[in-house]
Amino acid sequence: MEHAAIDSGRPTRIVVDLDAIAHNLAGIRARTGVPVMAVVKANAYGHGLVPVARHLEALGVDQLGVAFLEEGIALRQAGLRVPILVMGGIFGPQASQFIAHGLEATVSSLDKLRQVEAAAEAAGRKAVVHLKVDTGMERIGVHSYSAGPFIEAAVASRWCTVKGVYSHLACADDPASPMTALQVERFAEACAHFDRLDAPMPIRHLANSGGVLHFPATWLDMVRPGIIVYGVLPDAASQATIALRPALSLRSQVVYFKVVRAGRPVSYGATWAPARDTRVVTVPIGYGDGWPRALSGRGEVLIRGVRHPAVGRICMDQFMVDIGEGTAFNEDEVVLVGRQGEDAIRIEDVAGMAGTIPYEILTGLNLRIPRHYLPAPGRSPGEAGGRPTGG
Ligand SMILES: *Cc1c(COP(=O)(O)O)cnc(C)c1O
Repeated sequence: MEHAAIDSGRPTRIVVDLDAIAHNLAGIRARTGVPVMAVVKANAYGHGLVPVARHLEALGVDQLGVAFLEEGIALRQAGLRVPILVMGGIFGPQASQFIAHGLEATVSSLDKLRQVEAAAEAAGRKAVVHLKVDTGMERIGVHSYSAGPFIEAAVASRWCTVKGVYSHLACADDPASPMTALQVERFAEACAHFDRLDAPMPIRHLANSGGVLHFPATWLDMVRPGIIVYGVLPDAASQATIALRPALSLRSQVVYFKVVRAGRPVSYGATWAPARDTRVVTVPIGYGDGWPRALSGRGEVLIRGVRHPAVGRICMDQFMVDIGEGTAFNEDEVVLVGRQGEDAIRIEDVAGMAGTIPYEILTGLNLRIPRHYLPAPGRSPGEAGGRPTGG
């Protein structure tokens, strides 16, 4: 599923600083002191699934979390050996593939438990599962107030090993929300069923990035951070209780320069025109790469260390920047996200300008943009394309 973009020297590229990811993981470990399941769903939040997962495995991460089965399969096919939990609700007919690929399944209902058991029995191999309890998301998972029979059935299962029990926090991005304490309490009530049944307590995990940052009571036996691994805060209300370093920057280059006369509108729909003659450069990235069209008339970029506004509508493959009286030449670097000179544009700023959250900007950056990794991994070329390993 993940394919390496053809390396044509495209001037637009994502640069991923793997040292920043190492730094952030170390910060998460130092703050919580518990094992970490790093979440790498959605192409590792746009950073590149396999290279990021390999790096995390090399850093000794305890576990990886993905959303969908195919993300887990891609990691196994790339040769990763670390435990991988697929967190999305499983779809019954896929159950056998969890066992075939050595992936841990989220079991979120009695029915799904039965489906996984049937697949495990057919394969003659036990399935490793994490039970999903709903403590307030009203998404997948058995309500904490009716989890007793579900947990009892899972504990009694001959074909499922219950490795974990977990729930997901709805409001942990906001340190002031009372919802999290409520969810912690409900989760504890559900976990008490294991004691009642005299069953060993599986790994209890609850904390997403917001939980790691704000709520020590959610850390339990393992934490499950995603966005902070990449050095980005989940929300404008979040507190940076860990010193994070953003791993991703998005860079392009000037490919065209022209003078636009006063009153001559720029781009589709003729929504913007300069009041006086001005200099306009074209940047070769657009909404077809996942650079949001919502940034039309709002975005900013850095060129020669100076912040300039994007003008007119963002096109599918290009957009224009008004550099005013400034100077720019073809091939000058254009920074859309990241640092240039004294200034930096953060993904949080971009999300704010586009009226969305950093998660959506990051995961929207699609496979048309080539990814480069720093420091360059000391591996044979071609590995990033998915070496067949028979996993
Ligand atoms: C995405 C996800 C996470 C990670 O969330 P962040 O806010 O990025 O830390 C953790 N757990 C589950 C179940 C998720 O779906």
